[in-house]
Amino acid sequence: MAVHVVNEAKRCLNCKKPLCRTGCPINTPIPMMIQEFLNGGIAEAGEMVFENNPLSIVCSLVCDHEKQCEGHCILGKKGAPVHISSIENYISSAYFDQMKIKREERKNKRVAVIGSGPAGITISIILAKRGYDVTIFETREKIGGVLRYGIPAFRLPKSILDNYKEKMLELGIRFRPNTTIGGAIGIDDLFRDGYLSVFVGTGVRIH
Ligand SMILES: Cc1cc2nc3c(=O)[nH]c(=O)nc-3n(C[C@H](O)[C@H](O)[C@H](O)COP(=O)(O)OP(=O)(O)OC[C@H]3O[C@@H](n4cnc5c(N)ncnc54)[C@H](O)[C@@H]3O)c2cc1C
Ligand code: SF4
Repeated sequence: MAVHVVNEAKRCLNCKKPLCRTGCPINTPIPMMIQEFLNGGIAEAGEMVFENNPLSIVCSLVCDHEKQCEGHCILGKKGAPVHISSIENYISSAYFDQMKIKREERKNKRVAVIGSGPAGITISIILAKRGYDVTIFETREKIGGVLRYGIPAFRLPKSILDNYKEKMLELGIRFRPNTTIGGAIGIDDLFRDGYLSVFVGTGVRIH
């Protein structure tokens, strides 16, 4: 795996105008990540992509790479594009296992996040890093939303989501599982309970 990843990384031309980035909906700093990795800075490369997208490991597995980063890579015009997804996955997984997320000083401001799908997880990590006290309310027992209950495990192992939960708990994020907002508890109740803002990340599930 590592040999394949290094060989793929070495194929990158470090383009001045990287089309791979243009093809990525969240503008992942792909050439910078690859160069940092080749220079021995795997942790720095991992931090760089995590700062841009806390779900970088997940995206390295489930994004539509053939249409996005890899589909735009300049090398794909005449041959095989750089296998960016496996490079990002290798870097992000190595970084995730040892990362200690830095948190700004606590602001003593509470934020409620409804839903623990990719939207809820991402905003919770970003806000907790900025010092907000985040509580996630989730209808289901476990976090992940469609990542857990829709995408099959052979594409996205559930252990990744469990590991995210551990890191989020370390960041001070609180979970209220089996709790639906909009029934016995409404958004008004959350404001009454002292939450200053509420992020609604309930997905678009059609029943
Ligand atoms: C079968 C399937 C496969 C997919 N495969 C891919 C893929 O391979 N690659 C890809 O990029 N995208 C894929 N998608 C799309 C992707 O999963 C969604 O774009 C993404 O999950 C949306 O994230 P979200 O956080 O907005 O919502 P969701 O993932 O739907 O999460 C919403 C969460 O909110 C919770 N919730 C809902 N209402 C309430 C409430 N009132 N109170 C408390 N909690 C609530 C839900 O239980 C859920 O956990 C797939 C979607 C499906 C359905
Ligand atoms: S477009 Fe391809 S070759 Fe150019 S920087 Fe991106 S991954 Fe590297």
